[in-house]
Formats: sequence, structure tokens, C-alpha cells
Amino acid sequence: MKIADGVEMLELQARGFAGPTIVHPTLVWDDTMGILIDTGFPDQLPQITEAMDRIGIPLNRLDKVIVTHQDIDHIGSLPDIIQASAHKIDVLSSEEERPYIEGHKPLIKMNRERLSERLASLPMEQRQQVEAMFVNPPKADVDKTVADGEVLPYAGGITVIFTPGHTPGHICLYLDDSKTLVAGDALVVTDGTLQGPNPRATFDLATAMKSVKKLTHYDIKTVICYHGGIYSDDVNKRLAALVSSGD
Ligand SMILES: [Zn+2]
Repeated sequence: MKIADGVEMLELQARGFAGPTIVHPTLVWDDTMGILIDTGFPDQLPQITEAMDRIGIPLNRLDKVIVTHQDIDHIGSLPDIIQASAHKIDVLSSEEERPYIEGHKPLIKMNRERLSERLASLPMEQRQQVEAMFVNPPKADVDKTVADGEVLPYAGGITVIFTPGHTPGHICLYLDDSKTLVAGDALVVTDGTLQGPNPRATFDLATAMKSVKKLTHYDIKTVICYHGGIYSDDVNKRLAALVSSGD
């Protein structure tokens, strides 16, 4: 779905842990470069390339991937994207998320306890698939780490907002030109309404709510939530309401 000139929200169908779901990476580009924010679950490369072809920004236009955080539904197809590209793709993340994305530390939400909990609720064939994902999680080298407030000089400026809580080093990206907030999992859209982070999936909820408050400092026209898609109905007002109800 087109959000603004040079900004598209992708819609990837996936088999999530709790049943079929849609995830929303964001593609940003200008005349000189293409940037993908988050990469879906493992095995979603065909869907990603197809979506990019449809938009007219094929994989060979991609120069950088920014990863909002380490969760499997965000880094899943990262290794495949890097491998499929004919040229080097730079991977960017926060310093805090780097060791997880690079595979030096186990993904924080993928410990044995959580795994058995999740597996118990799945049909047998999907169990095996998920187990394989846990045993051998996707990983990739991070080429550049980004810090809070840093403005990346890509496609009209992309401001990095450090928003820990969902994971220790989660970041949101603010697209300066179109005033679009790429929220990752710092916010979700449920039944058409913008909500704070999903408590069940959040590592540190108190910190995550502080991060939501931080987002109120930006003038936001549209939010892209990785889970739930876009929200554009007086975003700042809605954020203020979320913050005051969380106090
Ligand atoms: Zn997610």
C-alpha cells in the first residue's frame, strides 16, 4: 500500500504462531537508493521480491536493510535477502540488538521455556517447522549501528528513535519528508485502533510505555505498525491518550 511518494507498506501473509497473520515491512526509496525496514518471517523472500517487483523497486534496487529489532518475524528473511542480492546490502540496527541479530547471543524471546509453551499450541506439522526455526535462527552481520536521534541521510532523512521495551534495543524510524512513523512493534493496530505494545510479546512493558511517550515528541501523520498496518487518524492525539491512560 502506498503511504507517500517513495514509501510503501508491504503486506506479507504469514503463518504466525497464533495462526495466519499479516506482517508489514516498509520499503523506502529515492532516485539513489532503496531501503527495506524489517524482513518478515523466514522463507518470505519470494513474497518480498514479488511485492517489490509490483511496486517497481525490484530487489536489485535495494541497498540497505534497517532492522527495528531481533524478533524472528522481523529478521526472518534477512539472510535470504542478503544472499539473493547481486551487490552488498548494508544491514543497520541499534548497538543493543546487534549481538542477537548476528547470532552471538540467543534471541531473547526464543528460549526453551517459551518454545515449549508455543509448540504445545501448534499442530504437529507446524511444530516441526517452528522447532527448526528455533534451533537454527536467522542471523546476519550488522554493518552499521544507529543511535537515538541520528538522522540517516537516506530518502529525505530517516530519524532513528530509540524505543526500548518490546526488546532491549528496539528502534522506530521517522521518515522526515512524509512524517511517517515506522513503529515496528512499539505500537500495534488492533481493530482499526492504535494501541500500545502487545503486553504478551513485550520484554519490558514499563520501558515500552516510556518509549511510547517519547513518540509524542514527533509530528506524525501516519503510523505503520508491523502488526496491524497503518493508522492515520490524528496520530498525536491518539498517542497522547495512550500515554495518559498508561500513567
Ligand atoms: Zn513483530
